[in-house]
Amino acid sequence: MNKTSVTHYAPAKVNYRLDVLRRRPDGYHDLRMVMQRVDLCDTIEIALCDTPGIRVTCGREGVPDGPDNIAWRAADALLALSGKQAGIEIAISKRIPVAAGLGGGSSDAATVLMGLNELLELGLSDARLMEIGVKLGADVPFFIFKNTALAEGIGEQLTALGPLPQAWIVLVNPNVHVSTAWVYQNLQLTTTAELHTIPSFFGSVADVCAILGNDLESVTISSFPVIRSIKERLVSLGAQGALMSGSGPTVFGVFADESVARLAAETIAGESDWFVTAVKTL
Ligand code: ATP
Repeated sequence: MNKTSVTHYAPAKVNYRLDVLRRRPDGYHDLRMVMQRVDLCDTIEIALCDTPGIRVTCGREGVPDGPDNIAWRAADALLALSGKQAGIEIAISKRIPVAAGLGGGSSDAATVLMGLNELLELGLSDARLMEIGVKLGADVPFFIFKNTALAEGIGEQLTALGPLPQAWIVLVNPNVHVSTAWVYQNLQLTTTAELHTIPSFFGSVADVCAILGNDLESVTISSFPVIRSIKERLVSLGAQGALMSGSGPTVFGVFADESVARLAAETIAGESDWFVTAVKTL
């Protein structure tokens, strides 16, 4: 019997590295990123129904229901391509903080593309889904690719890295509003001469921490010094490295040891009213 619904997890990501190489004439930037999925996930339920049209519900403040939701646009793109007249209900259980540098919207969109490909039995390859995905958002292809990746171009040229050693990641989101457009307007580009070499082999969590860097961080810290304080706190609690993810404001600490990571997360949660969690890399 054909499936009429699927439920999938949509994981968050952190950027172990984010170099901004140049501004492009189309307004995007050429980037070089190392992207890692982590086990903090939204849950996406997709169901086919008899009433035509796409309906998306999320119920989280700051996330639109309906056509402004990137998951709606993902479903619309795949439905148009399929030529089918299906009714589609998408329910998003949001756990990933919104507009936080953790890629939640992009991951939801990627999960909808993969889930609908399965439900509508379209048989599209991951490469084709990635082509559709990049039109929705530059980070969408990464979540279809699934491996830890070196991401170049606007983020869509993906090369598998690793496997990287498993790490524990403590995510701390101080819940300040950072405008991604403002960050990109104010950054210092990384010059080719400064470009840090990305090794092809990572033997330990310390090797991972050796590549941590984000060109957007100093811009965001200039307006939100709390990001520097969180980094320092994470390191004082045993993180081998700490960095802001994407355009922020979420900061992550990298730990080799689960118990040290969990204690650090509990400590920071006890000292603040921020979103704090310890998760492992995927
Ligand atoms: P990135 O790291 O890719 O820059 P982000 O984690 O900073 O992304 P998102 O959580 O994806 O940001 O949200 C960015 C904006 O997209 C929010 O302002 C939100 O209103 C809108 N949005 C639309 N659909 C979604 C969705 N399914 N989940 C989260 N945000 C969504």
